[in-house]
Amino acid sequence: MNIAFGPVPSRRLGRSLGINNIPPKICTYACVYCQLGRTLTMRVDRQAFYKQEKVISVVRDKVTKARASGEAIDYLTFVPDGEPTLDLNLPAEISALRELDIPIAVISNASLIWREDVRDDLIGADWVSLKVDAVRVPTWRRISRPHGSLDLHKILGGIRAFSVVFEGELATETMLVKGVNDNEANLRETARFLGEIQPKVAYLAIPTRPPAEEWVRPAQEDQIHQAYHLFKEQVDRVELLVGYEGNAVASTGDAEQDLLSITAVHPMRKDAVEQLLEKAGSNWSLVENLIRQDKLVELSYDGRRFYLRRIAKPKARKD
Ligand code: SF4
Repeated sequence: MNIAFGPVPSRRLGRSLGINNIPPKICTYACVYCQLGRTLTMRVDRQAFYKQEKVISVVRDKVTKARASGEAIDYLTFVPDGEPTLDLNLPAEISALRELDIPIAVISNASLIWREDVRDDLIGADWVSLKVDAVRVPTWRRISRPHGSLDLHKILGGIRAFSVVFEGELATETMLVKGVNDNEANLRETARFLGEIQPKVAYLAIPTRPPAEEWVRPAQEDQIHQAYHLFKEQVDRVELLVGYEGNAVASTGDAEQDLLSITAVHPMRKDAVEQLLEKAGSNWSLVENLIRQDKLVELSYDGRRFYLRRIAKPKARKD
């Protein structure tokens, strides 16, 4: 298991050390555009997946190594290959990681925020991003393919309640998928909802990496512009996340370990992999070996090659 990865460049957070507090790929949603592929285990009940001491010590260790090699870290970010609020230890992990004196971010799909305990857990973070892809039930079902017990109206109510009490920076993220949630009526309703909660920043994104479903395509320029203008009528700061993050990934010197831990949660473009190999004094034969060993998968999307760690279905936890 790769509990921490990076620091990697993040389109939102500068240089972010990722924390992967959920085993692959356990989620409350099975979004059609998910860059991690199809959801392996869909659930809504919260659990302590890893021992909190383990998560904390792995992150502490990564930070120490990054600092020793002069790598800056702007945020510690819970951005697992699943939904981070499924982790019952999240509040304990956030509070223990405070000792590292680095701001803490959580990127959540918001599906469990209707629960008071989840809102309380997120309040301890400095920066929280919540997914708001759609506020119409049929569109939400089509794009997020949620667990059957989830109720969009309760989720939107939870987001409203959280936005009132959260004192850190609240961001929202809306992924625009061509022909699914990018028509004017959907965009207007989503924008109106964002106007109610007034996030510090509303991000608009399009899929830039290979999605779970092959038919998924990014919204086109006209729809992106329309979304931008509609959102801007409601929220002061709207940003487009339509570019690539850049390739400035950190290297610990162990190219295989770096490649597998980053690609477990963050598919890498071919040029980023090449840079990482060069930094670590390795070469492309490592990638070929990992593909042969079935540890890495090569995908193509939008005319580019990407590399993603092959995810094995997790075994049931015994302890
Ligand atoms: S995009 Fe996020 S919320 Fe959607 S299925 Fe993937 S991990 Fe879950």
